Amino acid sequence: MRSPETLAVAFPSSVPARLTGRLELQLQSILSARLTRPERVTGVLDCVFDYVGGTAATPELIRRLATGAREWLLQRAGGLFLRDRGWFEASCQECGQSFDLPLSLADAPRSPAGRGYPTAQIETSLGLRTFEVPNGLHEEKLARSEGGDPSRQLLGLCGLSDHAFQEALQFSAVDVEQIDAGLDAIAPDVASELNTQCPSCQANTSAVIDPLEFSFPEPASLIRETHAIASAYGWEEATIMTLPSQRRRQYANLIAADMRRGRGMR
Ligand SMILES: [Zn+2]
Repeated sequence: MRSPETLAVAFPSSVPARLTGRLELQLQSILSARLTRPERVTGVLDCVFDYVGGTAATPELIRRLATGAREWLLQRAGGLFLRDRGWFEASCQECGQSFDLPLSLADAPRSPAGRGYPTAQIETSLGLRTFEVPNGLHEEKLARSEGGDPSRQLLGLCGLSDHAFQEALQFSAVDVEQIDAGLDAIAPDVASELNTQCPSCQANTSAVIDPLEFSFPEPASLIRETHAIASAYGWEEATIMTLPSQRRRQYANLIAADMRRGRGMR
């Protein structure tokens, strides 16, 4: 039997990197690359956090976090950029209208890890088997695999048995269900859906929260602010990119205010 790779931490502590234009550029290149969603999550978390669970953040470390732990960190990563906004974008499942919902992402409801986490022992028709809670590496492999039954592929990846891939094909439908349920019961999780009422059609709808879709800064504002600061102060682009994002925004706001008062510096 192999040892589990999923880290035993459910909701790891995190220390964000300094938010600068340079970091925003890195984020934008990750978000615009042809990557699967799990690969994007790994890239974004690696980019935004210096430390996760008290250890220097690396893609390898972030891949070993359980799926729920990664989603929780992703909400926190998004929250760093949403701090000024305090809302997130949702769309109505009835009428399709987009609307803003106030939300403190850090407070999305969570369910804790269960006993034995990150592994569960499950009685199957092949005997007692041990599985680890799915992690980022499993997600990445699954998103890249073509064909086959994804739930059985996942059991092949999560199974700690030496013959996990072979056994994943031999499990009965009931086995598959029970293993899924057993893993779900101990996996830490964070809510990614919120029940709400649509302001347009008044329907009760559930809004899916995907921080990747709305949390991270758009390239246009970085370019606009850099242009304004370079024009007004004559600073090099590289210098502006190392400014803390919040200070860059403050300078750009001051420049815009000067312009409005007709005291443009150029
Ligand atoms: Zn609606």
